Amino acid sequence: FVICRDVRKSFGSNEVLRGISLEVKKGEVVVILGPSGSGKSTLLRCINHLETMDSGMITVGGEAIGYEMRNGELWEAPYPVVAKQRSRIGMVFQAFNLFPHLTVLENVMLFPVSVHHVPKDEAKKKALEILDRVGLADKANEYPRRLSGGQQQRVSIARALAIEPELLLFDEPTSALDPELVGEVLQTMKSLAEQGYTMIIVTHEIPFTREVADRVVFMADGVVVEEGAPDDVMVNPKTDRFRTFLSRYL
Ligand code: ATP
Ligand code: MG
Repeated sequence: FVICRDVRKSFGSNEVLRGISLEVKKGEVVVILGPSGSGKSTLLRCINHLETMDSGMITVGGEAIGYEMRNGELWEAPYPVVAKQRSRIGMVFQAFNLFPHLTVLENVMLFPVSVHHVPKDEAKKKALEILDRVGLADKANEYPRRLSGGQQQRVSIARALAIEPELLLFDEPTSALDPELVGEVLQTMKSLAEQGYTMIIVTHEIPFTREVADRVVFMADGVVVEEGAPDDVMVNPKTDRFRTFLSRYL
């Protein structure tokens, strides 16, 4: 469903992605592990078109994600196409990025109403349904600052779900949370995985990864070093690099 082929990206002389190839099937949950600076966020940002790759190819559901490299030249789709493509992907960040002046309900309704032109009552009904699914129906009229970090992150997951995404990207969704709030967010993500969402998750939560991932990808220095089923590669890492990385989290 997601295909990345030989994706390269540099910032100045810093080559951050050095030929990443990765495939994610529909309904598959892939966890990306890797040390700081290995290019995990940059890869997610390229998939979501928040960055543009220098060369290579990324398709989501068989379509280019709004831009392509054609014979070494960047080709960008017209804006409406880009917006449409991007709106098929929901992304959840480490910092929850909620709009502080909007209520929980308004945060979740915002993109469906403003980008997808869903009528307000319909968007509201849908938003309440989604909030119920993440266990926050009773917080619909609160402002984000009145919620715990874990609740805020669940609102941003609800916001990502509200656009009916075909793909969900998570970039260290629990790294900014107090330890006691991590579990509720991981539980929410686990339930999405069980509902069949296609997910790419960057996280350092090792037990969660072993439990939820269909496949683990270990990145270092802008390349995929190892990948496979968690019970396989995380139990018997083939490289010292991955073994050392894992030992730090156990
Ligand atoms: P972390 O685990 O710390 O989040 P990461 O694997 O997500 O790390 P990236 O954020 O993708 O790593 O960054 C990889 C490299 O790219 C780093 O050296 C970073 O400084 C650099 N980088 C990322 N974004 C930019 C940018 N917009 N401009 C310049 N350099 C950048
Ligand atoms: Mg990162």
